[in-house]
Amino acid sequence: MQGRELRGELDAFLAETEQGLRAFRRDLHRHPELAFAEYRTTRLIAERLTAAGLHPSVLPRGTGLTCEVGSGDGPTIALRADIDALPLQDEKEVAYRSTVPGACHACGHDVHTAILLGTTLFLAQQADAGLLPGRVRLIFQPAEELPGGALEVMAHGGISGVDRIFGLHCDPRVDVGHVGLKTGPITSACDKLAIRVSGPGGHTARPHLTADLVFALAKILTELPAALSRRIDPRSSLSLVWGRVEAGSAANAIPDGGLAEGTVRCLDENAWHAAPDLIKALLESVAGAYGVEATMEYSRGVPPVVNDEVSVQMFAEAAARALGDGSVVPTQQSLGGEDFAWYLESIPGAFARLGTRSPETDVTYDIHQGTFDVDERCIGVGVRLMAHTALTALWEGKRVSEVSEEHPLAELF
Ligand SMILES: [Zn+2]
Ligand SMILES: [Zn+2]
Repeated sequence: MQGRELRGELDAFLAETEQGLRAFRRDLHRHPELAFAEYRTTRLIAERLTAAGLHPSVLPRGTGLTCEVGSGDGPTIALRADIDALPLQDEKEVAYRSTVPGACHACGHDVHTAILLGTTLFLAQQADAGLLPGRVRLIFQPAEELPGGALEVMAHGGISGVDRIFGLHCDPRVDVGHVGLKTGPITSACDKLAIRVSGPGGHTARPHLTADLVFALAKILTELPAALSRRIDPRSSLSLVWGRVEAGSAANAIPDGGLAEGTVRCLDENAWHAAPDLIKALLESVAGAYGVEATMEYSRGVPPVVNDEVSVQMFAEAAARALGDGSVVPTQQSLGGEDFAWYLESIPGAFARLGTRSPETDVTYDIHQGTFDVDERCIGVGVRLMAHTALTALWEGKRVSEVSEEHPLAELF
């Protein structure tokens, strides 16, 4: 792959801006805003971009924004950060502790935002100097935690015309200066399921005159997970687990209604797509056998983030250039969900794990905890990584399109 050495230019850029970016992160940390309420955060980002001569476009709800740098007819690459905080209490004793009760940047989205702001400002300088072989769309996405922000961005054309997209997430188990990469699925899917059953009730002395609904519901509770495990590839690790069951109120009365709720978790994209129809068909056959009516409400969460191989290579090459050989470490698929997955359902791209652990201490934080914090050197590292990744993807995209223009069949060989 092609690319240009940016290290010297990034050294100079960060010498001037890194302290400011850390201060920006701390400001966001002090004033966290929950999903679809990121008005102040959006305004602060927009002000910084506008001051740099850019033209950000705020999403219609007033939270989240996109901005484009570069011009011409080269490829378009998108970089995405999420900007929302979590509804939990900040438990840290630091100067930049959250000032909002019950809200905390405990997933590191303040860090992601500061990194993307720095990357945007650097890429804008490159564009001004005529050094961007295409366009870069910067997506400051609201509401990752809800989730729903990615779909909001996409509904308003946020990735239309984009050839490839990249994002990153803080990983407190990886030392700062390192980047975790993995081809294929890197996060998991999690959906919710509610089943309601109904049928004639009656006395437990005469179950044959009723639908014997509690018995039928018990069959559904055990048969559905069992049948699923035989109908879906076991490598997908799809699991249906019940968390709530309700039926009846007396020992000798068969009720006429009942409810079961649970979650469906899954590591594999194909199995995730197949799950609702398959569960519905299994439900109908089990319920039908016992003569009860059953309805299902299936609420989609997010699909797994499935990293494209070429995009991961671009990330790896950019990391080696930006941070040195040995900076890339393998990472595993997590059981958590991440709505970046929605972008990758439409366009290729990759999601990286950015090391935020301080190697000088023996403390390892975890995300979604009120104690979560990062080694702020990860901000400069993130800017270097994302700037190199955007440039690597632009140059490579341009090279591939030129080769295929010269030789229409070139991509086949
Ligand atoms: Zn989170
Ligand atoms: Zn997060």
